[in-house]
Amino acid sequence: MRVEFLGTGTSYGIPMVGCGCPVCRSRDPRDKRFRPSVLFTGAGKAVLLDTPQDLRLACLRSGIRRVDAVLMSHEHADHVFGFDDLRAFSNRMEEPLPVYASSALCAALRRTFPYLGRPPVPGTSLARLKLHETDGRREIFPGVAATPLPVEHGRSAMTGWRVDCGGASAAVVSDCKRIPPETMEKIRGVDLLVLDGLREEPHPTHFSFSEALDAAEEAQPKRLLLTHLCHATSHRDACAVVARRGLPFPASVAFDRLAVTLPES
Ligand SMILES: [Zn+2]
Ligand SMILES: [Zn+2]
Ligand SMILES: [Zn+2]
Repeated sequence: MRVEFLGTGTSYGIPMVGCGCPVCRSRDPRDKRFRPSVLFTGAGKAVLLDTPQDLRLACLRSGIRRVDAVLMSHEHADHVFGFDDLRAFSNRMEEPLPVYASSALCAALRRTFPYLGRPPVPGTSLARLKLHETDGRREIFPGVAATPLPVEHGRSAMTGWRVDCGGASAAVVSDCKRIPPETMEKIRGVDLLVLDGLREEPHPTHFSFSEALDAAEEAQPKRLLLTHLCHATSHRDACAVVARRGLPFPASVAFDRLAVTLPES
């Protein structure tokens, strides 16, 4: 299974509009971060996690021509406001594009995009999507399973996702302040764990670096990457903070267009 990071920034993206801080002015390409989204590819299928505002640009940048299913995490703008751009994929499909989300998030998506449930005006096109309310592990294609991972993220319910394919496993929890024990059990020992790591300073609704590393220590993945960074820390400095912790498994910081291939058994 291949896991590609289409975006790894927090809700503002980096650079942030109007900011002249050293990270926003950095020439390191790893300090340019779109809003967060991930593409899992395996068993001949491409599964997208989240539809941020930058989805169109991210898909063009990575040459993504096809998405077979979509997993959604939560209703914040930096995860759903590119939802309508799924039209580019669904237009080329025979059947509606399947979208998996919690029942609460399905309701929020129907409220935010009410026109998507209606037939299009003749001569126009709308995204053809089928929402699947998913509150437990589900085989979304033969050999590809998706498991919702409910976590605490301030006032918002938030669902990370674990994808299993060909014996490889990856869990992505992009926005999180606390992982409840039931969810921790579902991510323990995964091949790749991706966690919210906003910045060094604590934040009311996101993991700081050290909180993310504490959670990773408990989860004991085979590999850890942090995502959803804000402009408070450069990529290089964030990697140094993670390295100083000396975790017993490879741990680092994701950046846009990073692709990780997980060996299948
Ligand atoms: Zn977010
Ligand atoms: Zn800045
Ligand atoms: Zn959020």
